[in-house]
Amino acid sequence: MAVIKVLDEILANKIAAGEVVERCSSVVKELVENSIDAGSTEIKVELLESGVREIKVIDNGKGMEEDDAVLCFSRHATSKVSSEDDLYRIATLGFRGEALASIASVSKVVLSTSTGDKVGTIVKINGGHIEEVIPGEARRGTIITVSELFYNTPARLKHLKSLYTELANITEYMNKLALSHPNIRFILTNDGKQILNTDGSGNLLKTIHSIFGHTITKKMLEINGENDDYTVNGYISMPEIHRANRNGIITIVNGRVVRNMELNKAINDSYHSYKPDNRYPIAILNIDVDTSIIDVNIHPTKMDIKFGKMEELLELVSSLIKERISQKTLIPHIEEEKKEIVKKEKPKYEEMVLDFNTIEEDSNQYVINEDLIEDDNTVKQETEDVIIHDDVKERFPILYPVGLVHGTYIICQNDIGMYLIDQHAAKERINYEKIKSKLLHPSRDSVSMLIPLTLEYSNNEFIVLKENFDLLRDMSFDVSEFGVNSIIVKAHPTWLDDGFEADAIRKIFDLVIQKEKNFNLERFYDHVSATAACKMSIKANTNITLEEMQALIDDLKTCANPFNCPHGRPTIVYFSNYDLEKMFKRSGF
Ligand code: ADP
Ligand code: MG
Repeated sequence: MAVIKVLDEILANKIAAGEVVERCSSVVKELVENSIDAGSTEIKVELLESGVREIKVIDNGKGMEEDDAVLCFSRHATSKVSSEDDLYRIATLGFRGEALASIASVSKVVLSTSTGDKVGTIVKINGGHIEEVIPGEARRGTIITVSELFYNTPARLKHLKSLYTELANITEYMNKLALSHPNIRFILTNDGKQILNTDGSGNLLKTIHSIFGHTITKKMLEINGENDDYTVNGYISMPEIHRANRNGIITIVNGRVVRNMELNKAINDSYHSYKPDNRYPIAILNIDVDTSIIDVNIHPTKMDIKFGKMEELLELVSSLIKERISQKTLIPHIEEEKKEIVKKEKPKYEEMVLDFNTIEEDSNQYVINEDLIEDDNTVKQETEDVIIHDDVKERFPILYPVGLVHGTYIICQNDIGMYLIDQHAAKERINYEKIKSKLLHPSRDSVSMLIPLTLEYSNNEFIVLKENFDLLRDMSFDVSEFGVNSIIVKAHPTWLDDGFEADAIRKIFDLVIQKEKNFNLERFYDHVSATAACKMSIKANTNITLEEMQALIDDLKTCANPFNCPHGRPTIVYFSNYDLEKMFKRSGF
């Protein structure tokens, strides 16, 4: 008796569903991508219970004729690929022709579609069985309702995550789609509450505003540039905006959101020393490139990409970002927090939003409910403010010190407001830049030590140090062996201040011992400068005179980046006159 059986179509679809449809967000993804492929300019996604009860996608795309409306649920039914050749020239998002068949096999689907020029079609399918095909409205476009996902595959149903996670995934996905298609209007609601509503005007900054809210949008900088192969444009956050994870870095290649670790790293590294290294910027970058230099690996649930001429791309992106943030006045502006407007009603959704925000560990997150009930005019006005704000020419303001708090914070003033400078952070920045420039232009000037320093190490540390004597000598240290596992330092470079040298030398030698495998001299000098600067900078709680404060401000002003200490913390913050008046409720606030 034969043991091999041909699977019936519905079973095959259910199995395929395991790959294509893992959770609510994958259903949303497939349906919305179909709507985009159908040329829609407005796509609305309405969820009930984060999509677990129902997902409805309403589009205004080209719709389907009756025959297609039935056929689209068969496996490998696609209007997008008809020959193997097509596979290599795919411009649309879907092409495997199995999404609808898979989704329909594990849920209850109602499809209502029309091309708009004659009566439409309604198809009802339960668990893959077509139950009914009847005439429908003649409205151009398609409405697909998917209810009770996985009702007939209980094992998969159990796999769904919490409602928060399902909604968070869908929101994140929709945000990315909206950012990569600013010319399509996207609306997302859950249990009747609106989560996302973009205007589809084609203006990326407005889309950013709908997703990230006013506070972040105000702090986004536009970048544009190109080389022979790539064109890059988009928005990057000012360094003071950073988050605990990389989710805010969104790269869009030829209109599709893609992932590429090297590219993400280059974007993040471009902010080095402008923000803490373990925090990440927000960046929405559109990269346009000839398809012949990229290799896209399209997996049903993710999109990876390989670039030819990678170095050229990384170089372009890094230089655009570095150049842009170095032109800016980067003094964080301390404003009173703008409070949420939607706090009044407290529906179930509100709780979800609160929890949703805690999915990522801090508050600089997608603020999905901010500005929800503002009208279009407010949004327009705010977007314009942002553009004006971006025009600031003066990079570092003229400041007059007036006092010192706790021996740490220098209070300064000028016509437009009040500033606080962290004395220690400022000094650290100044020393860091001074030392780094000396290291990069070595003079071999050294200072002999009155009492030479002897340092003892374990045998393996000693071997590493000994191997690196040349490196230390290039930095103007006079080092030699001194008995068993010991080293003697008789002179140190001039940039090490008296009084701190022993501590600093120990730290620098530790850096040599920890030298990484892929050693890079500039990066090493960077670490050395930051380490020595930290040791040498005046500690907080030191009282200094007004003249000394002025000298410090003058030194800070000449720095390439006066706004952050070498670890990326701010050196200076700003309170406008307006903020001060508002805090004291003066002049009609
Ligand atoms: P694929 O998108 O890979 O072709 P799907 O199973 O997702 O496969 O869809 C099958 C076909 O159904 C599509 O090729 C398209 O012709 C049609 N279709 C699906 N959704 C829509 C829609 N919203 N509007 C118009 N046509 C659609
Ligand atoms: Mg599809």
